[in-house]
Amino acid sequence: MLLNKALAVRRADAQLPQDVRAALVDSLYLPVAPLAVGALSGAIISAMVATRANDPWLFACCLAIWLVGLSRVASAFLYKRRRDATDFRRVRRWERIYTAAAWSFAALLGLLSILTVLNHTDGALHLVVATTSAGYAAGISGRNAGRPFIAIGQIMLAIVPLAIGLLVYGDVMHAAMGVVLLLFVYSMCDISLIIRDVVVEALVTTRDKAVLTTRFEDQTKRFDVALNNMSHGLCMFDGQNRLLVWNERFLQLAGLPDSAVVAGARAKYLVRRSVRIGNHPEASVPQLWPELRRLSMGEVEQIFMPFRDQRWMALSRRAMPDGGSVVIFEDVTERKQAEDRIAHMARYDELTGLPNRNLFRERIASALARLQRRSGYMAMHLIDLDRFKGINDTLGHPVGDRLLNAVGQRLQAAVRRSDTVARLGGDEFVVLNARLTQPEEAGRMAQRLLDALAAPFNIDGHRVHITASVGIALAPGDGVDPDELMKKSDMALYAAKADGRGVFRFFEPAMDAAAQARRALEMDLRNALGRGEMEVYFQPLIDLKTGRICACEALLRWHHPERGLVSPAEFIPIAEETSLIIQLGEWVLNQACAEAARLPSDVKVAVNLSPAQFKDTNLASTVVTALARSRLSPGRLELEITETVLLQDSHATMRAMRQLQKLGVRMSLDDFGTGYSSLSYLRKFPFQKIKIDGSFVKDLGIDEGSVAIIRAIAGMGADLGMDITVEGIETEEQLRIVKAEGCTEGQGYLLGRPMPADALRKRIADAPTGKRKVA
Ligand code: C2E
Ligand code: MG
Ligand code: MG
Repeated sequence: MLLNKALAVRRADAQLPQDVRAALVDSLYLPVAPLAVGALSGAIISAMVATRANDPWLFACCLAIWLVGLSRVASAFLYKRRRDATDFRRVRRWERIYTAAAWSFAALLGLLSILTVLNHTDGALHLVVATTSAGYAAGISGRNAGRPFIAIGQIMLAIVPLAIGLLVYGDVMHAAMGVVLLLFVYSMCDISLIIRDVVVEALVTTRDKAVLTTRFEDQTKRFDVALNNMSHGLCMFDGQNRLLVWNERFLQLAGLPDSAVVAGARAKYLVRRSVRIGNHPEASVPQLWPELRRLSMGEVEQIFMPFRDQRWMALSRRAMPDGGSVVIFEDVTERKQAEDRIAHMARYDELTGLPNRNLFRERIASALARLQRRSGYMAMHLIDLDRFKGINDTLGHPVGDRLLNAVGQRLQAAVRRSDTVARLGGDEFVVLNARLTQPEEAGRMAQRLLDALAAPFNIDGHRVHITASVGIALAPGDGVDPDELMKKSDMALYAAKADGRGVFRFFEPAMDAAAQARRALEMDLRNALGRGEMEVYFQPLIDLKTGRICACEALLRWHHPERGLVSPAEFIPIAEETSLIIQLGEWVLNQACAEAARLPSDVKVAVNLSPAQFKDTNLASTVVTALARSRLSPGRLELEITETVLLQDSHATMRAMRQLQKLGVRMSLDDFGTGYSSLSYLRKFPFQKIKIDGSFVKDLGIDEGSVAIIRAIAGMGADLGMDITVEGIETEEQLRIVKAEGCTEGQGYLLGRPMPADALRKRIADAPTGKRKVA
């Protein structure tokens, strides 16, 4: 039984944690004093016994006991100095050293006892050795119980030889003593094993506790470090929303002093402190708390909180299983600013700071929704700056931008706070008048807007005059849909532009019909050339001195299959809007040159060029091709351009005109007197001819001023060596005055209507004097 127990202990020992095993080895050597006292008492008693018995064997035994005893004490001191509980191999070696010495010591004691009992009859000696061995064994059973195998070995080695000696001594007393000693051995061994269990269990428990405590402390330290080195602020609340844990970063981000934050504080208390400290100059507790409450109730997962210096914190909450929560603080100022910037950019125009198309749509939608709930009107004023492109091209884009900005400011200043001024893009603005009681108010407002822009602008030292056209659509009369209102105000704007610009127009249903007709015409126009519906007519220009046809102007005619003859005044603007003009213009040029080549060589041909053609970089080569194909001499081709062309980018225009002039082509300024009529153009651009607009001729004989103008232009033309043609001569009287004022050429129904090429050819051939004299 004892053996079984001992073997079980040995197996359990093999599985002991190393530090426990090391502690048990410690218990063998330490403290050194009892070990030293034990060794010394054994040695002294052995010396006493040997001396009294005066037995050389016993002296030898005694000497050995002294040596082994001393070595044990020495090894204990050494162990005390060199022990290393972490080096398990050394621990095992020390255990082996101890075992060897302890077992030797016990065996020597046993030898001493048996020799004393067998070789001597002195009862006192017998008593000494018996009590010494028994005392030794009893001490060992307790002291070395941690390593019961060693203890059992020591007990056996010390007692069993003595017991054998007593048993074989020969009297009953000794024999009985021997038996008792053997029983004593048994119980000492058993006690040793029992104590071992107690000791080991105590050790393991203490050790586990120590390990756990250390681990917990380490963990707490690590947790602390992690918490305080987080880039986010953190607060942990319990189920009752009381603060449990927070980190340094939370204090920094929330701008709270250490003293303001105490465990157990409620979230609302923290908000109050934060407001009192001045962290939220633009918000009060009643403003901040509802949002925070929703967060703390778990109704939302994240909120944004404003702080001083335009800083923003994001507070995100995560619920914990025990009903508490963790709130993370994050500085999102930059993100928020970027988002705000993007949101602003998405809804405001960067250049003027006015609402853009998107925000305008929102405003108009909510204004229309309001309108449905109450009576009244809403007006949409679509504003387009007249000839803004000319300013952009001549003064440069930076000036154009600043002008747009200034226009925005003036419009804003001219409206009420409840009105919206927006920039839709380019030079297009819109004003939304959401609260009108009478539709007529919209007209007054439009006039106010036009007046606001009438005064000249001073941009970078440039005095800039600008006018605008305004198209007005009214809700609910013209519709209650934003797109529809936009479309209708656009049509009204178109009409305002057509009515000479600088004016406002209300939408009228007829405009819608006109727009539809325009769209239909545009569709037809795309196919007109291909279907052969186009024809070039020629109107003669008469030399007023000789009365002969000196030139003819090519004028495009469209024979529409359903509408009959469509006037170029109607379809040329559409062609210009859609860039069809490039193709049409090229075709006219080719036709005109080809026809002119069949006319007498002193008759020139005049071809109208639209601004869009001038922008086309291929213009010069188109002209060259037309001349080459027709073999017309370049000097017989006149290109008529209006001032609108000159308003475009002057460098590019200048370059194009120089190119054409180099070819030997003549340039004439058409419709002079209708636009700016800036004399500086005449100096700057190389014209050979000016064509005075027909509108001046109409007033001849009625308005003295018109005569004066014609006279002045004719005089200037003569000085500059230019030809002066007068358009639209319809009466003899007009012809007389024009001749008298010194104009060089005349054009008009009186002198010849625009006619097909054949007719013109016939007309020239039939001319009685010099074959082509007219009238
Ligand atoms: P424009 O270049 O000023 O042409 C003169 C216009 O005055 C022509 O109108 C002509 O028929 C008209 N006209 C001539 N004499 C009289 C007259 O005594 N009384 C009146 N009331 N009108 C007279 P049309 O042919 O209808 O052309 C109108 C405008 O269309 C032209 O004005 C020109 O700007 C443009 N156009 C015509 N053909 C072409 C073309 O091939 N290309 C381009 N780009 N524009 C063209
Ligand atoms: Mg013309
Ligand atoms: Mg003209």
